[in-house]
Amino acid sequence: MIVKFFDYPKLYSEHSKDYESILKKTLSKGSYILQNELVKFEENLKKYLDAQDVVGVADGTNALILSLIALDISHGDEVLLPSHTYIATASAVKFVGAKPILCECNEDSSISVDDLKKKVNSKTKLIIPVNLNGKCCDLDMILQLRKKFKGLKILEDSAQGLGSRLNDKHAGTFGELGTISFYPAKTLGCFGDGGAIIVNEKKYIKKIRMLRDHGRNTKGSVEIWGTNSRLDNIQAAILDFKLKNLGNYIKKRQQIAKIYDQLDILKEVTIPQKNNDRYFNSYQNYECLFKNRNKLKKYLTKKGIGTMIQWNGKALHQFDKLDLKHFSLPRTDLFFKKSLMLPMNTFITNAQAKYVVKSIFEFYGL
Ligand SMILES: *Cc1c(COP(=O)(O)O)cnc(C)c1O
Repeated sequence: MIVKFFDYPKLYSEHSKDYESILKKTLSKGSYILQNELVKFEENLKKYLDAQDVVGVADGTNALILSLIALDISHGDEVLLPSHTYIATASAVKFVGAKPILCECNEDSSISVDDLKKKVNSKTKLIIPVNLNGKCCDLDMILQLRKKFKGLKILEDSAQGLGSRLNDKHAGTFGELGTISFYPAKTLGCFGDGGAIIVNEKKYIKKIRMLRDHGRNTKGSVEIWGTNSRLDNIQAAILDFKLKNLGNYIKKRQQIAKIYDQLDILKEVTIPQKNNDRYFNSYQNYECLFKNRNKLKKYLTKKGIGTMIQWNGKALHQFDKLDLKHFSLPRTDLFFKKSLMLPMNTFITNAQAKYVVKSIFEFYGL
């Protein structure tokens, strides 16, 4: 049996007829930029998330950069974020001239609130909790921390968090702003780059809408310095179609996760946080900690099972050529010695998931 880590052609072939008709309809109308399809998608996603507003932008990285600008984060400001995240979270902070301060992660891959408490101070302007792998961080605790420091803001990097909830509230709706990525392999992916900003306070709506379109207001008049960071209308049309299926995509992922959760009986394995009364996990990824990870990875490859170590195997402070090396994060170092992602997407069958579990049991001699 072969279990690919991800099967990109299937993203299209799964609903190719629908996509072709969406493309034909949108293209033949001449609706390419900032048209009705985008307006509708933003409206539907806003309803789904129960947010104040949702603004489509070029990609998840631009969503972060524009959010930082909207929140007035700039030169010299300290920003707390986890070292276990995509480079984009930190590069966006660098891009606006601010200073990334890296924090530890917990065994469930979310940012450590203990470490946040140690590092937050009066110079901290912003915390970026990253709702990684489709699971919310401990946002309750992070919001409590915000209360203690005047002017401290929260921007959730929810690129991997769409559809996940904490206490029935959607990832990305806890902070002032949240960001999403529609990169093809994300839970809601388009056929190229795409992203969105979730706006949770009305006062930011106008500024963000202007920032993504050259600083222009709805009448086309320039009010502030902005840029071109618009979500393509065609991508929006496709995303609006896929949004209708998002609930089913997540159900499918949870079904696969439930099979993988059988690994919990192995003392050599730490599985992700299971769903419970507080956490509704949308399983963008299924990232575990494994004893003898490297040997296991090789074993699974021989068995035809594709796996991946997130971020090509390195947390941010482990990039030798960047200026983040001085952060000492032993818990994150340990995490990256053991972490591995099992195949997790909507194309995996129950039989394939069971084969993955069986193979891992075999490896540990069970
Ligand atoms: C994918 C991702 C991003 C960036 O999204 P792009 O759309 O690829 O720019 C940012 N942060 C995290 C945690 C991601 O996984």
